[in-house]
Amino acid sequence: MTENDKPASRDFIRQIIDENLRNNAHGGRVCTRFPPEPNGYLHIGHAKSICLNFGLAKEFGGVCNLRFDDTNPGKEELEYVESIMDDVRWLGFSWKDGPYYASDYFEKIYGFAVELIKLGKAYVCNLSAEEVREHRGTLTKPGRNSPYRDRSVEENLDLFTRMRAGEFPDGHCTLRAKIDMTSPNVIMRDPALFRIRRQRHHRTGDAWLIYPLYDFTHCLSDALEGVTHSICTLEFENNRELYDWVLDNFKWSVRPRQYEFARLNLTYTVVSKRKLIQLVDEGVVSGWDDPRMPTLRGVRRRGYTPEALRDFCERIGVARADNMVDISLLEHCLREDLNVRAPRAMAVLNPVRLVIENYPEGQAEEFICQNHPENPDMGSRSLSFSRELYIDAEDFRAEPPKKFHRLFPGSEVRLRHAYYVTCTGFSRNESGEVTEVRCTYDPKTRGGWSDDGRKVKGTIHWVDAASAVNATVRLYDRLFTVENPLAGKDRDFKELVNPNSLTTLTRCKIEPSLAALAPEAFIQFERHGYFCADSKEHAPDRPVFNRSVALRDSYAKTQADGK
Ligand code: ATP
Ligand code: MG
Repeated sequence: MTENDKPASRDFIRQIIDENLRNNAHGGRVCTRFPPEPNGYLHIGHAKSICLNFGLAKEFGGVCNLRFDDTNPGKEELEYVESIMDDVRWLGFSWKDGPYYASDYFEKIYGFAVELIKLGKAYVCNLSAEEVREHRGTLTKPGRNSPYRDRSVEENLDLFTRMRAGEFPDGHCTLRAKIDMTSPNVIMRDPALFRIRRQRHHRTGDAWLIYPLYDFTHCLSDALEGVTHSICTLEFENNRELYDWVLDNFKWSVRPRQYEFARLNLTYTVVSKRKLIQLVDEGVVSGWDDPRMPTLRGVRRRGYTPEALRDFCERIGVARADNMVDISLLEHCLREDLNVRAPRAMAVLNPVRLVIENYPEGQAEEFICQNHPENPDMGSRSLSFSRELYIDAEDFRAEPPKKFHRLFPGSEVRLRHAYYVTCTGFSRNESGEVTEVRCTYDPKTRGGWSDDGRKVKGTIHWVDAASAVNATVRLYDRLFTVENPLAGKDRDFKELVNPNSLTTLTRCKIEPSLAALAPEAFIQFERHGYFCADSKEHAPDRPVFNRSVALRDSYAKTQADGK
C-alpha cells in the first residue's frame, strides 16, 4: 500500500467524533452542516469544507445539512442559491432534507432575541456605528459601556418591537447582547444581534426590516437543526465564545459544538469570493465559470472531475494550522484520475502539412486503434490515413538541436499507429515559417513497427488532412504570476494576473470523431495533455476544447532542469 492508498487518517475532527461516539455524546448522533452565504459561487476552498462535512456524515452514518446562511439581503441572490446546490451535487454529495435557510428561522431567532431581552441579556442601543467603534476599545484597551445598556426590560421590549415594525430608519439603533465590555475577547464586548436593514430579501421579501447578524444566527440555526458538530474555518475561533454564550442561555436537546479547521489556501490562486467577484466584475476573466477561475464552475468547465477534487481534498487532509497547498498537487490528482479514464486521441494544435511523396494520390487506408493503451474495454476507433497529413509544427526542425529525435531532414520517425517515415525536405514561406514538410514512408512498417528490427527514436502524432476537422483549443497557464497574490498588502492582486494565462489556438486539426463528443467529455490528446469539450461553446460543427492539465508538471521539470 502506498502513502496515498491509506484510508483517511484520523484527523483531529475525526478523533473528536470518535471520542463523542464512545461517550455517547449527542445521543450517538452525528449531524454536520455546510453553510454557504449565497453571495457568490463556490470555490475550491468550499470543496474542502463540503468534502469534510458531507464526508463525515457519510462516514459516521449521520446527516449533513445544506444551509444557506442568508442573513445579508443586500448581497445575496437566487442565482447563487441555485448554483451552490448544483455545485454540491456535482461534487457528488446530496442532502436528505432541506435545503435549509437561515431566513426560515427569522421568526424563531426574533423570539430568542425577545427571550434574551427578558433575561436582561440584550438591549437596544442607540449609539451610531462610529460611537459603537469608539466604545469597543481595542485588543489592549477595554471597552466602555454604552449609555443605553441599562434600559429596562420593558423599554427594550418596546423599542425592539418598534424596530421590527419599521419605526426607525436604518442605523438608528441595534439590538446588542449584554455581555462584558472589558472582555479580552473583543467579540464578546456587547456584540450586535439585530440591525435595521430596509432591504428586500430574496426569500422573505419585505417581511423583515431587521435582520439578525451572523454570530447570532449561526449558532441558533445549528441548534434548531440538531447539528452536533459545527465545523468552520479558523478565522471563527474567537467567535466560538459567543456561539457558546448564546446557546447557553437556552435549553437544547442537542447542544452543538463549534470546531475550527484550517482553510484551504492554494498557490497561484485566490480563494475568496470577495476577490473573485472583482475579477468577474472588472472583466479580468470572462465570468464565474471562466476555466481559469478556482470556482467549482470554473474548474468544472476546465475539465476537473468531481473524483479528482474529492481525491485532492482527501489528500490535503484536515488540520488546525494554516498552510499553503501547492497547486501542482491538485493538477496531479486530475492527471491520476484522467490517466485511467480518459480515452486517447490525436490532435494537432499548430498544424503543418506533411506530404508523403511515395504514397499514391487518391489512395487511403484505415487503422484500428485502441482508445486506451491499458484498457481494451474502452474500445477502439478507426483512423484514416492518406498522402497528406497534419503534424504539429514543433515536431519538425529544419536545424535540429542536439537530442532532437523528431522530424528533420534525413531523420526517420514513427507516425503513431501508422508507419515509419523519413523526412526528405520542406518548404518555407517568405517570412521563414515552415509551411510543408515532405517525407517518404516505408510500406513494410504498417502499424508503426518494423520487421527488420530497425528502431526509431521518435514517435509523433498526426491527423489525416482529408478527414481532419478544424477545432479551437484553449491552453491555460496559472492565473497569477506569484505564489501568493494576496501577500503584498499595498499591491492590488489584480496587477499580478498572468497576461499569458489563456492561449487560444484556432487552427487546430482533430480526428473527426472528436467533433461528436458531448460537452464536458474528457479526452487525452496524445502528447498534449487532458482536454475537455467546452460545456458552453463546443458543437459538432465548431469543436472547442479546453486543456484541463498538461501531461507532466512542466513547472517541476523546469526546476529539475535547473533552468
Ligand atoms: P469567502 O472568504 O470566499 O467569501 P466565506 O467563508 O465567506 O468565503 P461562506 O459562504 O461563508 O464563504 O463559506 C461557507 C463555508 O465554507 C464556511 O463554513 C467556510 O468556513 C467554508 N470555507 C470558505 N472558504 C474556505 C476555504 N478556503 N477552505 C475551507 N473552507 C472554506
Ligand atoms: Mg463567510
